[in-house]
Amino acid sequence: MTETRVRFAPSPTGYLHIGGLRTALYDYLFARNTQGKCILRIEDTDQSREVEGAAASLVSTLSSLGIDFDESPEAGGDYGPYIQSQRLELYRKHAAELLQNGHAYYCFCSTETLSKMREEQQTKGEFVKYDRRCLMLSQEEIDAKLRAGDNYVIRLRMPDDHRFAFDDEVRGHVEIESSQSDDQVLIKSDGFPTYHLAATVDDHYMQISHVIRGEEWLSSTPKHLWLYECLGWQPPKWVHLPLILNTDRSKLSKRMNDVSVESYLEKGYLKEALLNFVALLGWHSADDRELYTLEELCEAFTLDRVSKAGAIFDLTKLDWMNGQYMRSLPLAAIAGRARQWFPADWAEDYERYLKVIAAARERCTLLPELAEYARIFFEPAELSEQDLAIFTSETSQKVLSWYHEQISTVQADDAEAIDAITKAGIKELGIKGKDYYMPLRLALIGAPHGPDLPTIIAILGKEESLARLAGSSAKPE
Ligand code: GLU
Repeated sequence: MTETRVRFAPSPTGYLHIGGLRTALYDYLFARNTQGKCILRIEDTDQSREVEGAAASLVSTLSSLGIDFDESPEAGGDYGPYIQSQRLELYRKHAAELLQNGHAYYCFCSTETLSKMREEQQTKGEFVKYDRRCLMLSQEEIDAKLRAGDNYVIRLRMPDDHRFAFDDEVRGHVEIESSQSDDQVLIKSDGFPTYHLAATVDDHYMQISHVIRGEEWLSSTPKHLWLYECLGWQPPKWVHLPLILNTDRSKLSKRMNDVSVESYLEKGYLKEALLNFVALLGWHSADDRELYTLEELCEAFTLDRVSKAGAIFDLTKLDWMNGQYMRSLPLAAIAGRARQWFPADWAEDYERYLKVIAAARERCTLLPELAEYARIFFEPAELSEQDLAIFTSETSQKVLSWYHEQISTVQADDAEAIDAITKAGIKELGIKGKDYYMPLRLALIGAPHGPDLPTIIAILGKEESLARLAGSSAKPE
């Protein structure tokens, strides 16, 4: 079997879109699963849409997520350059070849002529496409226009009455009539190729075996197939990934969701969870397992389990998954990643900081929530009037002084002893439920809810716990 070679081919027009991450991830997983090569190619032929620094930030986001490339602008490779703006001669050469053998033609129509044509076709309810008026020009007319320096584009001449048929690895057998394809511009008036020409030429020269891309490109495939045919090349295998949808089944959009990968990382989602979640947007294993490391995904991923039905972007599921990873990743890893959300001095006592993270991660979904949760240990909240009334009542004072006395006899990290004391107090004092727990929690952490008492005391340490129980710390001025 020949080696599989796949490429992720982003246009550097801004942030990394969730859909882009899914394509890059599937490319990566498929290449690793088949011991093939994963290639990064920067498609920067639309100069007007290019954003400075976007390519570099895209690569760094992917690499921070663990996706790296065997061949790329940075890594090099035998099929470079891997940036399209550095391959312009190659595209021009093949455009010239297509002109030569009659598969392409010059078009001198102005933007105004084209928009008028579009409007007329729309009013008549016709399929909007170039009406080929420049195809009728004689060689003399063409030469004269070229000599005069008129602006032009080069268009692909699509066949008439042709039914394009191909087998897609995800969608199965697909047939599309040529009447639904426009005479695609191959070279724009600025001399740059369009995506269609550049991607086809590069996929051929880079010996791409499988083109993995979003479903939005499916309708362009006839143009690409025709280019392969006109240039006498063998097309790759096609893999069109399902659309990613909002929960209302509309196409994933900023209107309903954040769509940039960076924004999820900034919000404190874990890269493991994000990758795992994105992997399941269109792929699942036979046993519907949900949690995978990147290595496990490389092992399990096959194209035959990519679905053609739209994949719902369900934030609740991402949150659930993130919670799972918050608890299952090594404590030190979570502590390290959470650090940027913590005031520096909260992590000064590292042992204590780890204990706080260990307790907090049981209840939190996102990294910044850990710091919110941890606040009770570092900056106990001021009690409200209502809390204060509970806290200072006679019953509460009874609970507090008894508990204080008991805790002074044990080690702060002796969870079992503290648990026993806590239970014993209920019997001994004949006070239970809210009346019992509320004053203890208010005294210790200034809040009615939080971790269990042994955890709180272990984190605060004995001295601080006793001080708070005695009312010298958590109590408002
Ligand atoms: N440059 C195209 C994009 O960013 C790539 C499409 C493809 O993978 O063929 O969508």
